[in-house]
Amino acid sequence: MSETIFSKIIRREIPADIVYEDDLAIAFKDIAPQAPVHIIIIPKKPIPQIAAAETEDEALLGHLLLTAKKVAAQVGLTNGYRLVINNGSDGGQTVYHLHLHILGGRQMEWPPG
Ligand code: AMP
Repeated sequence: MSETIFSKIIRREIPADIVYEDDLAIAFKDIAPQAPVHIIIIPKKPIPQIAAAETEDEALLGHLLLTAKKVAAQVGLTNGYRLVINNGSDGGQTVYHLHLHILGGRQMEWPPG
């Protein structure tokens, strides 16, 4: 896959406000937050989008969800939060390195825009 800005964050080639890291994933504050708390969680493996994930990625995908739970608790989102994965053009994806958004700190609305 082509290089993205998130690969540069993993390699510390550009700055990011990193809030969590382990062997498989890293989480950092979104540079353009859409809520009082807006954190991006990415796998270190550069899967471009959820549509490109394979059966072999099953454990990694589960790890990302459990990491989201852990990070949400770590930053104090005790009243709830939203997890979002944008996929492809219609999904509004802009960075083609799979990522989860954690959004919280305000009441979320439904349907999303
Ligand atoms: P998406 O639109 O789902 O692909 O989300 C990409 C997200 O990455 C957007 O919310 C951007 O604000 C965020 N983003 C892009 N560049 C950076 C960066 N250098 N540091 C942190 N967040 C970023």
